Amino acid sequence: MTLKAPHEVVIRFHEIALKGKNRPVFIRQLVDNVRRATAGIGVKNVWAGRLLVRVSLEETADWNVVRERISRVFGAVKFAPSYRTELSYDEIAKTVSSIAADRPFKSFRISAHRADKAFPLTSYELNVKLGDMVKVQTGARVDLKNPDLDIRLDIMLREAFVWADEYPADGGLPVGTGGRVTVLMSGGIDSPVATWRMMRRGCRATLVHFHSFPLVEGRSREKAQELAGLLNAYQYDTRLYLVPFANIQQRVILTVPGPLRVVAYRRFMIRVAEAIGRREGAKALVTGESLGQVSSQTLQNMATVGEVATMPVLRPLVGMDKEEIIEQSQHIGTFDTSILPDEDCCTLFVPKSPSTAVHSEQIAAYEEEMDIPQMVADAVGGAELFEYHFPPA
Ligand code: ATP
Ligand code: MG
Repeated sequence: MTLKAPHEVVIRFHEIALKGKNRPVFIRQLVDNVRRATAGIGVKNVWAGRLLVRVSLEETADWNVVRERISRVFGAVKFAPSYRTELSYDEIAKTVSSIAADRPFKSFRISAHRADKAFPLTSYELNVKLGDMVKVQTGARVDLKNPDLDIRLDIMLREAFVWADEYPADGGLPVGTGGRVTVLMSGGIDSPVATWRMMRRGCRATLVHFHSFPLVEGRSREKAQELAGLLNAYQYDTRLYLVPFANIQQRVILTVPGPLRVVAYRRFMIRVAEAIGRREGAKALVTGESLGQVSSQTLQNMATVGEVATMPVLRPLVGMDKEEIIEQSQHIGTFDTSILPDEDCCTLFVPKSPSTAVHSEQIAAYEEEMDIPQMVADAVGGAELFEYHFPPA
């Protein structure tokens, strides 16, 4: 007998993080997010238990799709497909037997748990009886400590659930519980990872991308749109602002000496992103900077750039190295898009070795020659807005 698609998915969340009086808020958001993430793929119902969220599936549901969708819901730590059976020993035994027949294993254990103590067999009796059956069926031995296969059994009030496989999810907190941030998202590897890490802490992210079109041809606008679509799978609704940066750059080139230009560009990006963020109700800005990665990301330059912000500037990758960031970007699914060639707008008219220590007094002198509020307002006014919703239509 081959194993059929599971009837239900049991999702476990991070108990510790969800403790306290806000617990119901977190759980409600988690349930909402699971509903949203699994819309249109044969999910019947989603509801919360005390320590888990349950998802019931139509018979037609494609387990691989369900699995992929649930694995992206922040707050979920692990999840297990499970099989519902009638409350009779024979029916339970049939399901246990089909799970055991589905795969090779040398050792196993049965872990029964009775939520309803009225069931005629105790958990211990179930473990022994079913264990004997599986031994005879497969020749495998019982190992209580470190089995290849752990067949778990939940005896509920009206039904029983049998399950054996558990899949990891990313943990974190449900998106929507942490407030809104505005992310400065380039088309590179780092800032999409920074976005993901903030979403994983429960934040909703509004994305702001600066492009130098038509100063440079280049795919950065398309890349930003593609990345926004990918990241949207984690937060279900996303707004992306594509901001024209060419005018600001031309003005900076005329005013600011080469070695200081990257920092000057970045200060403008921060100002524009903050103006957009304020409109969006964001509480912080986020960048993909990591300390010392490139010359513009020295502590001094970060300080000089961050200084023009009135909101906190969060840098979730600050202590990570490139290897770790690349690994995460592959895990998230943004890597392949991030490495597509494009022209980074900040390399325009910048010398090969820009200054690693630009102080604010140095740059402020040049900034006085520019009408900053007007330049920022023009950039914000010229921004194009793109919206993404999950699942994509
Ligand atoms: P990334 O991989 O995110 O591009 P990076 O290592 O290439 O980062 P920089 O190019 O120095 O680093 O950029 C530092 C940060 O500044 C980026 O992570 C991003 O937050 C922001 N940034 C840079 N260019 C842009 C842009 N064109 N639009 C929006 N934000 C940008
Ligand atoms: Mg970059």
